[in-house]
Amino acid sequence: MRPQVARDYALPRIYDLHSHSDQSDGILSPEALVSRAKRQDVSVLALTDHDTVTGLYRAQRQAALEEIELIAGIEFSAHWNGRNIHVVGLNIDIERASLCDAVAEQEALRNKRAEVIGAKLEGMGVKDAYEGAKTIAGEGVIGRPHFAAYLVKHGYAKSVQAAFKVYLGAGKPGDVKQMWPELDDVVGTICKSGGVAVIAHPAKYNMTRTKLCLMLEDFKDAGGLAMEVVSGKQQPDVTKNLAGIAKRFGLLGSCGSDFHVPDQKWQELGQFSPLPDDIEPVWGAWE
Ligand code: AMP
Ligand code: MN
Ligand code: MN
Ligand code: MN
Repeated sequence: MRPQVARDYALPRIYDLHSHSDQSDGILSPEALVSRAKRQDVSVLALTDHDTVTGLYRAQRQAALEEIELIAGIEFSAHWNGRNIHVVGLNIDIERASLCDAVAEQEALRNKRAEVIGAKLEGMGVKDAYEGAKTIAGEGVIGRPHFAAYLVKHGYAKSVQAAFKVYLGAGKPGDVKQMWPELDDVVGTICKSGGVAVIAHPAKYNMTRTKLCLMLEDFKDAGGLAMEVVSGKQQPDVTKNLAGIAKRFGLLGSCGSDFHVPDQKWQELGQFSPLPDDIEPVWGAWE
């Protein structure tokens, strides 16, 4: 048998800068999320729960134990031209008063919206959806996936996908037109907390290229610095297209799995293609 030769080259660092815990619509606790990221060979993980930072202290503690780098993050829901846009904030200061205020407002909006969603579903013959979804959300901030889980659990839908298709997705009664704060305000909140604002999963908005470019112009004007060029397992032509747009707008590139639950192979921690070589990575902004 040949002796094992020590490798004199470093393995590439894997940055996964978009993930969810059970403090929003993910399944794993912040601790379990960090442990799973470590097992998946992630070097730097950002926890980016929807509109909340409650999981970050626990994730930071676990990350210190497991010797993995943890970036404090959030995924804000924002409004732009009649659409819901998600803006990830990376490397934010979670003690900053302006950020805490914005997050508290956002959580209150989510609760109000959930009551309206419950009433709409009641109108479609679904009983006790608000209470049921609230129970499923537990201590996490409530979102549509909790309603989807309730609908599946009580036989109103065969799967989460089906629940979105019939009850909760775009144009359905449970897709309550929520007046989230405007995109530029959300970007301002992130910048004021010392963070970097990143447009999340730009390919998922069903926008024409023209609309997307208009949105990115406004985003840049507001102080936005980056966009996700890689979001989970995506087709190479999508990555190429997004890389071209990032370069055109002089935006840094981010990458992340958007991990929510362990059984979705296209959203596994650390499992996505690396950023293209000609894209300046977002972590250059804080490293
Ligand atoms: P909310 O933030 O409450 O509006 O819920 C949006 C979340 O629902 C997203 O972050 C996804 O996790 C999830 N989601 C959105 N669309 C779908 C879909 N068609 N099927 C399954 N999950 C979805
Ligand atoms: Mn989600
Ligand atoms: Mn999102
Ligand atoms: Mn997300």
